[in-house]
Amino acid sequence: MKPTGVKRRRLCVLGSTGSIGTQTLDVVRALDARFEFEVVGLAASGRRPDELARQIEEFRPGWVALARPDALQALQERLSPNALKATRFLVGDDALEQLVAESEPDLVVNGLVGAVGLRPTLAALERGIDVGLANKESLVVGGPLVRRALERGSAKLIPIDSEHSALFQLLQGRPSVEVARVVLTASGGALRDWPLERIPKARPEDVLRHPTWRMGPRITVDSATLVNKALEMIEAHWLFELPYERLDVVIHPQSVVHGLVELGDGSWLAHLSEPDMRIPIQYALTYPERAARRLAPFDLTGTPIALEFRPLERARYPAFGLVVEAGRRGGAYPAVANAADEVAVERFLRREIAFGDIPRLIEAVLAAYESASLASSGTPPDQLDLEDVLEADRWARARARLWKPPS
Ligand code: MG
Repeated sequence: MKPTGVKRRRLCVLGSTGSIGTQTLDVVRALDARFEFEVVGLAASGRRPDELARQIEEFRPGWVALARPDALQALQERLSPNALKATRFLVGDDALEQLVAESEPDLVVNGLVGAVGLRPTLAALERGIDVGLANKESLVVGGPLVRRALERGSAKLIPIDSEHSALFQLLQGRPSVEVARVVLTASGGALRDWPLERIPKARPEDVLRHPTWRMGPRITVDSATLVNKALEMIEAHWLFELPYERLDVVIHPQSVVHGLVELGDGSWLAHLSEPDMRIPIQYALTYPERAARRLAPFDLTGTPIALEFRPLERARYPAFGLVVEAGRRGGAYPAVANAADEVAVERFLRREIAFGDIPRLIEAVLAAYESASLASSGTPPDQLDLEDVLEADRWARARARLWKPPS
């Protein structure tokens, strides 16, 4: 007999073979008996067919979506006859939205990387399906669209980014008038203690050495430029409906405090845990309840640890201010800044441009977008639709690929 009070929820995981997706499935395997999940849909790029085939054999989702149609055969060759018979496959441009609709989940975990994550987030929210959101671009590129979808329906958006999960937990049910300021913490990245004059010449191997978190290459470079934190400010703005004046960033090298809230009376609330993504993932799965199992116990006195907080040095992180300013301007500016940064990071990792060129490239693409949009009698920024922002994203990528460092 099942224990009483067990919630069986239907789960769809987008980006199931990536870092967030595999950790989500790890959390599902380990949840205590009060929480039960049926994995009804998986979406993956198709780059790791062995891993995806293992997931399908283990969880038997009814629906699987693949980003690359040419990966379908390689996947099917790896599946048992039973799994093949029980699975319906989706490929093509609309596969992610179809998956969200057809698999009828109660919760979608969106661990996709890139602007491709926006459409399925909207599709889920518009159908009243809750979303555990790790895909930054949903809010950075499509903040106003996500907000509108939330206001129209009954679905909830539960952040999976560690800082936003911390702030979401601290802000639970607190009226906005009581909140003076919300503070995101940043490790400061791999170059945090470098002399300023050496930073523009940092090499990929210097930057990829992140002090506390283990993450993909783009986000690790974005931690060194603090573009990641600027994007997180934009996310927080839309997620918590707070003006930029009430959002702040501090450098906190230990990555133990993930978010801070300053209340109107001068009290501060802080969220502490080990830097382990499975903690915010688990919270998103069990929200509004909490699992009883500690995935990564934090030992407050075991290893003596001094918690430091330092102000952000703007001169050390010139790209940070550019991207936050794009957020303030709204419209498609955040999409343009995000796309320019993504291409800049790729080009830096391919050693085509220097580390110090990353902010130059972002600045140049934003300036070009400003002239282009001033020249055209475009849509007012608050009325942009999905196609407008995706078009701005494509435009910015093309522009960023052509940018040349000043000789
Ligand atoms: Mg984060």
